[in-house]
Amino acid sequence: MIRLSLIGNDYHYELENIIRLFYPAQKVSADSGDFMQITAQVEQTQLAVCVIYGAQTAQREIRRQDPAQDEILLCKLLFEILSDYTGLRPGWGLQTGVRPVKLLRSLEQQYGEQQAKDRFENRLLVSAEKYALAKRVARLENEMLCKLYSNGFSLYVSIPFCKSRCSYCSFVSHDISKSRKLIPDYVTLLCREIALTGEIVRKLGLRLQTVYFGGGTPTAIDDGMLLEITEAIRRSFDCSGLQEFTIEAGRPDTITMEKLQEIRACGAQRISINPQTLNDTVLRNIRRSHTAQQFYQAYDLAVQCGFTNINTDLIAGLDGDTPASFAQTMEEILRLAPACVTVHTLSVKRSSTMVYRGVQRYDAGGDAVSQMLAGAYPALTDAGYRPYYMYRQSRMAGNHENTGWAKPGFESLYNMLIMEEVQTVLAVGAGASTKLVSGNQIQRIFNYKYPYEYIRGFDEMCRRKQQICEFYKKTAE
Ligand code: SF4
Repeated sequence: MIRLSLIGNDYHYELENIIRLFYPAQKVSADSGDFMQITAQVEQTQLAVCVIYGAQTAQREIRRQDPAQDEILLCKLLFEILSDYTGLRPGWGLQTGVRPVKLLRSLEQQYGEQQAKDRFENRLLVSAEKYALAKRVARLENEMLCKLYSNGFSLYVSIPFCKSRCSYCSFVSHDISKSRKLIPDYVTLLCREIALTGEIVRKLGLRLQTVYFGGGTPTAIDDGMLLEITEAIRRSFDCSGLQEFTIEAGRPDTITMEKLQEIRACGAQRISINPQTLNDTVLRNIRRSHTAQQFYQAYDLAVQCGFTNINTDLIAGLDGDTPASFAQTMEEILRLAPACVTVHTLSVKRSSTMVYRGVQRYDAGGDAVSQMLAGAYPALTDAGYRPYYMYRQSRMAGNHENTGWAKPGFESLYNMLIMEEVQTVLAVGAGASTKLVSGNQIQRIFNYKYPYEYIRGFDEMCRRKQQICEFYKKTAE
């Protein structure tokens, strides 16, 4: 436990985020701390941060000139002390937010490219390497996002069921062996929610641009159900402007030729087949319940079935993985040459079984993960992939990022717009959240989280959907 005492300020949240960069597993409390004591003080003419660990004390001060700068300067003082003490220099510096590229694009619009770069590197202490990555993504997004319809929206369909639960999972996903009996009712109500959403969309004159089926594992549900849901979409929306339709096949152990043919019949062009790693020992460690061989078979089936736009997800930092075996996985993936490769960095949330079992899978240094990414990014670049969307989560191994890479022309518009929050995403299903976007105004509407709540509270949830009309009315005024 780390004690954080504040004098003359209330930046607990911001300073806690900085502490978490270095000590992700420590709790931070205002009342007590046996591991470390931190005091952040704002006085009339001075800002000071003092850190006491064991018998050692480190203190830094700075002259106070502008109260509007207190927050960032206190964070900077704390960052520098903890960086000196641990020997770590997190690459994203003080930029602890989820969307670094959105921030960079907005700074560029406000101040121009050079000043945005200065702010990233000197004010937020972002490393030159991370700035360069964010810049590459921003450049590509600037090219792609101008293609969005002015009245466009995307539809997200949540299928929160999986064949079994992976140990690092923090999604709302139900093990199908325990929840199978809920699925028929779930699909029926999902189709009703789609129809209701279609009515709202017609009233508002919105135009469907992308559809994304995520989860969970959409291919975990019974044959015929994906088609039933897609037919509900085609009945409820004008799909003439639909530019991209993705179904996350996800786990290789759910993929059969019948399922792939059903996805084609749905009209989806983009699928995801996710090995996470091609090391069987690591797959067993994370309780993924499939082998590397099953991934190759599923991938081959998808190619035979005519899919040319396949994404594969990988995770750096999994239990038992090493830079050498991650490099081996990357080599194998590049040999297959999928259209997209998404490289995640492990982030262990409190809701994952890994944490419940008391195992800490990240370390603040994340040296191994740094090496994995240092090998993977140039390999992807050399193979012709470009980074096109990126986001961060808290408690990521080595404080890195998740980055989607695509061959030119295969960038997923949905992935970009969801990260940049530049288009409304109407979401249906359990655990889904609708995000309404109009200029800088954003409003979220949350569906019930778990399938049984979704089924039980369906009418109440449909009432909440009326907020969509209210939002558009309000923002049009
Ligand atoms: S396949 Fe994905 S959603 Fe399902 S349990 Fe594993 S990590 Fe979670």
